[in-house]
Amino acid sequence: MFVMFTNSSYYLFVGWKANPVEFDSVFNRSRHTISFGSPDIVPIFCSSLPHSTWGTYPHEYEDFATDASFLDHWSFDQFQGLLNRSFEDPKLRQLLLQDKLVIFLHLLGCDTNGHAHRPYSNIYLNNVKVVDQIAESMYNLMESYFNDNQTAYVFTADHGMSDKGSHGDGHPSNTDTPLVAWGAGIRSPKFLAYTDKPDDGFRFVDDHKHDMPTPQNWALEGFERVDVNQADIAPLMATLVGLPCPLNSVGSLPTHYLKLSKADEVEAVLANTKQILNQFLRKSQMKQSSSLYFKPFKPLANYSSVLDQIEDLMSARDYETAMKHSEELRRMALAGLHYFQTYDWFMLMTTITLGYIGWMVNLIIHVLQSYTSFPANLVKRTQVYAKNTSMKVYIIGCLVMGFSSIILLLEKCPLLYHAYVFMTIFLWTRIVHNFEFMKAVWRYLSNMPFKSIMNLLNISVIALFILEFLVMSFFDRKLYTWCFLILGILASTCVAIFIQASSALAIYIWFACWFLSLFTLMPAEIPENNNLVIFSGALVILIATASRWMATNNTSFWLYLTRANKRDPQFSKLFFVQVVFVAISSIMVWLSTSHRSQNKELHPLHQLINWLMAGVALVLPLFSPSSVLSRLTSIFLGFAPPFLLLSIGYEAVFYSAFAMVLMGWIFVESANLYCSEQNGSARHSSVVDGSIFGYDERCLQLSDLRIPLLFTILFNVAFFGTGNFASIASFEISSVYRFITVFSVSVCIIWILSTKFLSF
Ligand SMILES: [Zn+2]
Repeated sequence: MFVMFTNSSYYLFVGWKANPVEFDSVFNRSRHTISFGSPDIVPIFCSSLPHSTWGTYPHEYEDFATDASFLDHWSFDQFQGLLNRSFEDPKLRQLLLQDKLVIFLHLLGCDTNGHAHRPYSNIYLNNVKVVDQIAESMYNLMESYFNDNQTAYVFTADHGMSDKGSHGDGHPSNTDTPLVAWGAGIRSPKFLAYTDKPDDGFRFVDDHKHDMPTPQNWALEGFERVDVNQADIAPLMATLVGLPCPLNSVGSLPTHYLKLSKADEVEAVLANTKQILNQFLRKSQMKQSSSLYFKPFKPLANYSSVLDQIEDLMSARDYETAMKHSEELRRMALAGLHYFQTYDWFMLMTTITLGYIGWMVNLIIHVLQSYTSFPANLVKRTQVYAKNTSMKVYIIGCLVMGFSSIILLLEKCPLLYHAYVFMTIFLWTRIVHNFEFMKAVWRYLSNMPFKSIMNLLNISVIALFILEFLVMSFFDRKLYTWCFLILGILASTCVAIFIQASSALAIYIWFACWFLSLFTLMPAEIPENNNLVIFSGALVILIATASRWMATNNTSFWLYLTRANKRDPQFSKLFFVQVVFVAISSIMVWLSTSHRSQNKELHPLHQLINWLMAGVALVLPLFSPSSVLSRLTSIFLGFAPPFLLLSIGYEAVFYSAFAMVLMGWIFVESANLYCSEQNGSARHSSVVDGSIFGYDERCLQLSDLRIPLLFTILFNVAFFGTGNFASIASFEISSVYRFITVFSVSVCIIWILSTKFLSF
């Protein structure tokens, strides 16, 4: 018999439905399971289990605005009620007196309160005390009810939390959880008083060593500490209750926790080994039956003789050696499982890499053919030539595709593999189809003067360097600070030297780039600061007004720069409406937050206004004038209200800085066009008439490569400016209060993504 508590769990991105895959659990194996707790967790295990008694509170109870510790009381009270009822219900009493009974209390309070009020808040600390009390009451309740010393207790959690109340980024404070076990079948701790803390060499499944020393005030100094992987808890629980390990478990039985004789210990480990070995054998069998050319996992070829050897050792009572052999066999079985999980890896990586390369080559061919001043006769000649061969190429492509489909079908590969292979073959058929064109390009390149070749090489090297830089920035977002510091100097120098028209423009570019460079220095976990959000609202209005004023400035150079239309009214009605929306959003941020800091529930009126602001503001840019700067200003204003309402700190200011750089970029590109057209022979009168389509279409030049490169940098900085990859997974929900208070997982996922992608 056995009881377990755990305090939280949200499987965010992994199949969020009850029983996403058929899986075996300790509950499945038990004679009967009793469980109370969160409606998100308990049904996963119990909803399709006939031998279970369970209950959950309604979703509405998970209200982030209040103290959630009552959820824990609820679970305990339900269980206590069940025990009390059993005194009058002989059937229930009989059920409870059976062996192999598993009782599972899921205590969500700490998770909810940690997210809502942070782990150092009084509400959270109080909730920890509540959990402690429930553990004690549970123990007393069980011992007085059964009074037979046959209950084992396992107390654990599925994850921890950062100081800011978020989890999911893989930091040890998120992944290291307590495991406390006591009761029947559990060994008492070893006392190691006079040795230094020995390193038992334990590594967690992701290979990190535990780096958190046991806190001093736990008064556990001198006692042996035994770490386990979370997966190891399932075999521990199964062994304690006397059940076989769950079928799909990959955990290794932590024998340090068990009070067993040497013989029983080897028996238990051997059972665990056989269970994992069987998974391996089944996987191997399935792969063999569907593969045309099967490569077995060699180290386990003689597994049956090893098993026999272990049996022999056990009957000879050489438990030490038997244990060593079983543990080694279990390690190999786990390695074998990994081998089959990554069996198709090489084939898939090759296909996908070839697919990506094919896509890039196709794009280059397309751009060269359609948008460049590549000698027109060259293109024509190859097209005539291609007509004769294109039929053949496509037929061969189809044959290759059919052949590989048959192989994939025979190997019973998933549908996705077909899609990968199809894509790759299709793209490469197109490349072969353009082979003559590519040959012509090559001839053209090899006849080019040395100077142009050097020029081309230079630009390619710079482009490669920038792309490589983007890859590096995935690991260290601070690189963007350097990037924009340098870009600020470079761009403003270029503007000052080549465009000369306006020194104000150079200074503006310099300032905007350096301002933006600040944000990637800030912590990825955004500290809460509502004053910044409110200040940012004012900044947005200021920038928008300035840009609006520029758009209506009268000199022809500026008119050209901003691509403005003279007919646009200086301050249109739409502009005023948008500014008012931003102002109201700022005020609402302040109102909702001050309301929450008094621990009051979200006012329905505030909620309504917030939804309205965010929703309507997003639609307004559709009605903006079509000239480039006015359109950008309108989009900037339109996304500001939802962004402000979702912001909690510096990222709100980032939005303005980002917009300033975007506007600066538009100015520089327009100024560049203006100058090149002034230098050129034909200047068109389209300046006055001014719509964005008013300019001549021109061929792409090599220097235009700068535009997609800058775009990619800005696209990435929109993401990294306010966080990193880890901060997608670890979520921060203070801003959620401005819209909802009752939490559901799907909302949460949308939330994280929307806060991240609004900045794009
Ligand atoms: Zn959580």
